[in-house]
Formats: sequence, structure tokens, C-alpha cells
Amino acid sequence: MADFVGAIDQGTTSTRFMIFDRSGAEIGRHQLEHRQILPAAGQVEHDAREIWENTRKVIDGALANAGLVATDLAAIGIANQRETVVLWDRVTGEPVGNAIVWQDTRTASMLPELDASVLRERTGLPPATYFSATKVKWLLDQDPEIRRKAEKGDVKFGTMESWLIWNLTGGLHITDVTNASRTQLMNLSTLDWDPVLLDIFDIPAAMLPEIRSSAEIYGTALGGVPIAAAIGDQQAALFGQTCFDPGDAKCTYGTGNFVLLNTGTTPVRSTHGLLTTVAYRFGDEAPVFALEGSVAATGSAIQWLRDQLGILESASDSETLAATVEDSAGVCFVPAFSGLFAPYWRPDARAAIVGLSRFHTAAHITRAALEAICYQTRDVVAAMAQDSGTALDCLQVDGGITANALCMQLQADILGVPVSRPAVAETTALGAAYAAGLATGFWTNRDELRANRHEDRRWEPSWTAERRTEGTTRWSAAINRTLDWV
Ligand code: ADP
Repeated sequence: MADFVGAIDQGTTSTRFMIFDRSGAEIGRHQLEHRQILPAAGQVEHDAREIWENTRKVIDGALANAGLVATDLAAIGIANQRETVVLWDRVTGEPVGNAIVWQDTRTASMLPELDASVLRERTGLPPATYFSATKVKWLLDQDPEIRRKAEKGDVKFGTMESWLIWNLTGGLHITDVTNASRTQLMNLSTLDWDPVLLDIFDIPAAMLPEIRSSAEIYGTALGGVPIAAAIGDQQAALFGQTCFDPGDAKCTYGTGNFVLLNTGTTPVRSTHGLLTTVAYRFGDEAPVFALEGSVAATGSAIQWLRDQLGILESASDSETLAATVEDSAGVCFVPAFSGLFAPYWRPDARAAIVGLSRFHTAAHITRAALEAICYQTRDVVAAMAQDSGTALDCLQVDGGITANALCMQLQADILGVPVSRPAVAETTALGAAYAAGLATGFWTNRDELRANRHEDRRWEPSWTAERRTEGTTRWSAAINRTLDWV
């Protein structure tokens, strides 16, 4: 009997394969980076063939590291970078050009023509270069031959999980509902491709994958191992954090922050600058929805202090340096380097450090950068409370910055609720493994997974309500200084 579950975590910079046992503990892993292809300013591409080859290699590598063979795996789940567009030839299986990555802004000129209310109503998403639809349109508009083939179903479109499932299973063209919900082509009410949206973006239905749940057996690979889950990376992290109940929320801290709140089986339409998205769907069960808020620059502000200002040797030095002062002494740092994302959506915003006097030092600025990571999360969490009508009682956290205990304490202080970090930091891969394991009966129910979650550390809020209000008032004033910059 197979005692393990595998997870492919196909991310923006690398691909990894992780193997977990029944208790959710890691048994082995292997990871490979892939090239970031940057043809012009604002353009980011990946070579889908390279990503598939890396996927094969990391599966083999992780199995070898763990001393296992493929048939020791009860199932494999996939978590993936979302929105990134791959087109490939149905007959040869070769990618048609490079994949266009979610960060790519080449389609910005299409946005003014899009009807924001139609898109929001049907997809839960505003017009943005971020989602897949404009990227697919751009690729089809580039080459009439590709469009002609796409209309006949000879050129296929998929996000990364589709491309991997196609290759793993030998030609099944499938996506899952969480990934489909980020294409801006799926209707959130029907959970199917929407003819009105296909018409708006001029995308032929024949090139689209079939939309399936996030956890069911799609097919088999590696001599019979079920491919039994696919789920967007942020949704996978929510799942890996066992945020199964409405009101549960997680924040992943990396270059930027991604906050997701489980809102249960009804989609909550945001009026406060958040995205409405599918959190996951199990087989035939009702889909579970989430509100999502992404913050563009958090860890990248720490990188900026290190690389551009040179006041830190390493990202982790931010903790030691910031701890040498009691607070930021009135300094606010809004790292709006590339505008502000949720909940402001102000591409015109530019970063600012305000409140400086001769007295201030690199330590105050660094502490203000850590506070900025937390205030930006707070702004998203506040918008979620307004949209959903319920306040958070604890935030589950993961990602690189959660190693910074000072930052996590500030997060609890600024939010006014506890912050909890799980023992298994790899929540994205774990979420994909959990989904695949549930789909195949490796785990029998969600309670079993909840019992697997062990808290590594918890930070309790220590600020008074007055101090919190004072901090958020100053932060809001600083945000205002970054807007309409000329
Ligand atoms: P990603 O998956 O987005 O690449 P990671 O989870 O690896 O991100 O986190 C990397 C980001 O976190 C970097 O921007 C880095 O500056 C920041 N970071 C990493 N460790 C720390 C730390 N101890 N304190 C503050 N920031 C950190």
C-alpha cells in the first residue's frame, strides 16, 4: 500500500516536488529554478517545455532523495502559479511560443476598452493585465495562423496545471475551477466558460480545457499514480493551512503578500477593492469561495533596503536592526514601488518615506519597512471585514518573512488578533497534497487534516486599541502622500 502523497509546486521562479506522509510531515523534496525570460520592459515569459522537463526532474529527484519509487505515492496533487498562459499544439504537444507570465503587463493598452462592471459581475475580477484573458487574446492577435488553429482546437490554451496535466497524463486537457477562476473567462455563478466573456476577449471555445473540481482523479501518470488535485498556489496555501471554515484566513508573505479569506459556499462580491475567487471545490461538493487581496511590495521593500540602500547585509538582518529601536519614531515607509494593489488599486502611487527628521536612523527606516508589511496586510484584512461582515479572529501565516519574529509580533499588534505559524512551512505544496490525498481516500476527511496542523509559534497582540488607532491613522496619512504623484 502506498504510504505517501506527492505535490508538484509549480511556482513563478521554481518548480518543486514534495513528498508527505500521512501525518503531513515532509519525507523528501527536490527543487529546480527556471529561466525568467524578459524580452522587454514589463514583459515576463517562461519556457513551458523547460518547466515540464524540470517537473519530471524534481519528481525523480525527490523520490530518489526519499528512497522511494513512484508507486509508493498514493496520489499526486498540483499547486501552480496562477494566470500564466501557455498555448500548445494539440498534435505535436509543443508549446506555441513562450508562456506569458502573470506579472507581464504588455496587454495594458487593452484595459480602457473593457467594461469593468461586466467583468466584475461575471468573474469577480476587475480589468487587469494580471489575469489570463488579455494575454490569450494578445497571443491570438499576433498570429492569424495560431488563431485559425485555435478555432479548430488544434492549438490548446491552459494555465500551468493544465500544461502539466496534459504532459503527465498523455493528453488530457483539464483545468480546475480555482485556476479557471483566474483566467477571467469563467463565470463565477455557472463555474463554466462564459460565452459573453469569450466574445469580449475574442477567444475560441475550442482551445479551452474542461473545468473540473480541484480534487478528483483526472488521470494517471508514472505508471499508474493518480493525478488527483490541481489548485492555484494561493488557494493551495489556504487549504494547506486548513482554513476550511468561513472566516478562516491566511497570509502568505513573500516578495508581495497574498491574503485569502474563506467566505464559504457563497461568493462575496467585493465593494472594497478585493477579488472574489474560488477557494476550492471537492469533487461534487459545493464550491467554496474566497475573498483575496494581494499587496505588491512587502518583502521587496526589504530587498530594496538591502540592495539599493545597502543598509542591510541580508533580509534577516532587518529583524536585528529594527529591534535596536523601540518603534519607528513616527516614520512611515509606504513601498508603493509599482503602485498600490489591494485594496487601493492605484497604479499612479509611488513609494514614500515620510516623517523623517535628523534624529532618524537606518534602524527606524527598517522598522518602518517591517511595519509597512503589516499595515498593508491590515488594510486588506479591514477591507475583508467590511465586505464579509465578519471580523477575523486569528491570521494563519506562511512564507519567507514569517521567519522574522519581530515582524510577526508587529503583525499581531497592528491587526489586534493573534498570528499563528504552522510547523510545516510549505503550505502550498501541503495544500495540493491534502487535496489529492482526500480525493483518493488517503485521508478520509478534513478533521484528520486539521489534526495534522501543528502550531509552531503564535504571536498575541500587545498594543492598546489607542495605539493601534494612532498607528493606522498615521499609516493612512502616509498612503495619501503616495497618491497622485507627479
Ligand atoms: P517568494 O516566494 O515571493 O520569492 P519568499 O517566501 O522566499 O518569497 O520570501 C522572500 C522575500 O521575503 C524577499 O523579498 C525577502 O526580502 C523577504 N524576507 C526573507 N526573509 C526575511 C526576514 N527574515 N525578514 C524580512 N524579510 C525577509
